[in-house]
Amino acid sequence: MDRRQFLRRAGGLGFAVGSSALLGASCSRTASSTPSTMPTSPTTSAPPAGPPNWAELAGSLAGRLVLPSSPAYQGAKLLYNEQFDGIDPAAIAMCASASDVQRCVDFARSHGVAVAARSGGHSYGGYSLTTGLVIDVASMASISPASSSARIGAGARLIDIYDTLGNAGLVLPGGSCPTVGIAGLTLGGGIGVFDRLYGLTCDNLRSLEIVLADGSLVTASAESHPDLLWACQGGGGGNFGIATSFEFGLHPIPADLSLFTVDWPWAAATDVLGAWMSWLPGVPDELWSNCQLLASGPSLMVRVAGVFVGTADTLGSLLAPLESAVGPSPTYRFVGPETYLNAMFIEAGCEGKTLGECHLPSENPQGTLSRSAYASKSSFVTEALSPAGLAAAADALASGAQFAPGLGAAIAFDSYGGAINAVAPSATAFVHRNAIAGIQMSASWGSGTEPADAMRWLSAAAAALGPYTTGAYQNYIDPTLANWQHAYYGANLARLVKVKASVDPDDFFHFAQSIPTSLAA
Ligand SMILES: Cc1cc2nc3c(=O)[nH]c(=O)nc-3n(C[C@H](O)[C@H](O)[C@H](O)COP(=O)(O)OP(=O)(O)OC[C@H]3O[C@@H](n4cnc5c(N)ncnc54)[C@H](O)[C@@H]3O)c2cc1C
Repeated sequence: MDRRQFLRRAGGLGFAVGSSALLGASCSRTASSTPSTMPTSPTTSAPPAGPPNWAELAGSLAGRLVLPSSPAYQGAKLLYNEQFDGIDPAAIAMCASASDVQRCVDFARSHGVAVAARSGGHSYGGYSLTTGLVIDVASMASISPASSSARIGAGARLIDIYDTLGNAGLVLPGGSCPTVGIAGLTLGGGIGVFDRLYGLTCDNLRSLEIVLADGSLVTASAESHPDLLWACQGGGGGNFGIATSFEFGLHPIPADLSLFTVDWPWAAATDVLGAWMSWLPGVPDELWSNCQLLASGPSLMVRVAGVFVGTADTLGSLLAPLESAVGPSPTYRFVGPETYLNAMFIEAGCEGKTLGECHLPSENPQGTLSRSAYASKSSFVTEALSPAGLAAAADALASGAQFAPGLGAAIAFDSYGGAINAVAPSATAFVHRNAIAGIQMSASWGSGTEPADAMRWLSAAAAALGPYTTGAYQNYIDPTLANWQHAYYGANLARLVKVKASVDPDDFFHFAQSIPTSLAA
């Protein structure tokens, strides 16, 4: 079976395809139900001082204001996650420029209207939706590469960035999902297949332009508002203002790139996960990998996959100790060279698609990708799991079918280390700098699976892994997480609160898990 046939087989089972983490690869998965029982986005604000004159705002914008009466409204309000389809904004501003964003902020502030910033619309918590004004920057999506840097509009989608920069011979490390927006990704960190070599997306951020709560447009850089730049390097989207553009430092496209995928029988799951964790410290920063425990109803599989900046021969030698440590033979093994752009399309779940096809139809008329209904939890491991921890992970995944017979579930361990951990925890707002792996537990549902059952599995899996893990990734934002301030931001929380109080003292940019203006709030 060649790689293409294999990908088709795995996709048919509902498993993640390619070598990216489950949600990154599941951008193309179809989900069919829209649960009515799920929580709605809890964005709040002071009550309006009087009815907002939306026509006045519409008339002041270069972009469009979409109101509930517009035929475009039902489509324009949707996020990637179908869970939030029941939330109805009062208006959606499709901003065309930083000035439009400023006008929206001024209007909302003076009328007491709640706002939510939206870029790619992939917030796990639905925090880019509000019943007030959605300030959407998706059409501010220009991508302008220079020799070793690029200015990127806050609404650009990852696949467009990889395509434009890749054709200019340049790499920005970032996530796999093609339709994630650069703003949410960068502001919360940005985990991807080149991060062990080049750092997180936010580590490559040099400056950004951002509209603050008072309507001013400022540049945050090492020279100007350095605390704000620090906070925007992992302090989370939606907290400090609305970013309108970013400037990143970039890296040259690697001369050699290789991909791999190795599957083993489920009976070897704890052996594989244990061997993978023991193998991680010895591999070079050029090698990123993950270990995925995947369930589609009663079908279970364990897979290690990854991306290597180097030749397939060298990659084969690096994999040999892992494979010999596992014991049972793989049921599938692929190791091979790939071009940079093909690799990014494969990681995106878009192998064989054109750039236009690798989008949602709402973003591009040629788009063939679908939205999804899912929930997720995350954590980190700072050392290899004990035998009890390995068994807890495998048992948690295998228990999925007891909660819902057709549940699509995954526990994915993404390798950290390398350039990610070379940065001090206090050097940027992204504090998780001592992990060997980040964990993402995900449940997706469609017809035949009740969302509540999927959520019960997710809680049980997170509880089972709790004794062995720490923290949570702020970009996998989790509305059900109790201790979220410390889990996302740890020792950086106090400084983030100070920055918030200085740039947004009235807590204008507020949602259920936004940074507060004081620690007592
Ligand atoms: C299918 C899928 C795959 C993913 N894969 C990865 C991955 O590989 N690596 C990874 O690190 N993450 C990944 N993520 C998580 C992703 O990084 C976060 O969900 C991110 O916040 C999404 O950004 P967005 O702009 O698309 O979302 P949005 O929903 O638009 O925004 C997310 C948050 O940022 C705020 N925000 C949006 N625009 C702005 C702005 N211009 N200024 C200020 N705040 C703003 C929003 O208000 C919201 O709070 C994935 C998510 C999904 C759904």
